[in-house]
Amino acid sequence: MPMTGQRRREQMVNDLRRRGIRDERVLEAMARVPRHCFLDEALKYGAYDDTPLPVGYGQSISQPFTVARMTELLMAGSPSCVLEIGTGSGYQAQVLAELVDEVYSIERHALLHEKARVRLEQLDATRIYLRHGDGRHGWPDAAPFDAIMLTAVAPELPSGLIKQLKMGGVMIAPLGETDGEQWLTRIVRTPRTPSCKRLEPVRFVPLQTGVS
Ligand code: SAH
Repeated sequence: MPMTGQRRREQMVNDLRRRGIRDERVLEAMARVPRHCFLDEALKYGAYDDTPLPVGYGQSISQPFTVARMTELLMAGSPSCVLEIGTGSGYQAQVLAELVDEVYSIERHALLHEKARVRLEQLDATRIYLRHGDGRHGWPDAAPFDAIMLTAVAPELPSGLIKQLKMGGVMIAPLGETDGEQWLTRIVRTPRTPSCKRLEPVRFVPLQTGVS
């Protein structure tokens, strides 16, 4: 049995279900997306283990449980147009594209952006729009979004991004210190101050400034 095949993916999904992921739409999407295709050759073997893996340039793809959890939280509002900050390998973007109509994803690192673009093209991905840039500024010409997902940790609420959410729209983001406490947080745009709820401790690479 190939360690990268459908069987292995189904085992991963069963583990996710056992660990508390309830949204069947998310589980089905993760059963479809070939996570090994988003990794370099030497790492493909561990693609379906519940562990984060390096994607190059000091960045990493989150462990499947974190991807599932963040996607589940985002999908609670059944969004159709989503912005992701931190394309990385492109895996999370592809999982989202299985579930929503349009995915916009920004990556600050030119080589990661390019690698994800080529990879998603090879997988015949559709409805994913990629941009090289500093995601902290969002994607004004595609805004407003139903939901935003941040896949790098920010020290505080990114207020510029919240303005690109529809009223009532949700942002799922790790907030906290690079080397300290980080919390997965759900932020909802309201007519007044955004409402924030700390959910669970997480570990992410930092949201950086500018492009490289
Ligand atoms: N979602 C990715 C993993 C993201 S790792 C996946 O599925 O593989 C976090 C990513 O955020 C890294 O690729 C990093 O380069 C990127 N990043 C960090 N700061 C950023 C910024 N200001 N704008 C856009 N991308 C950023």
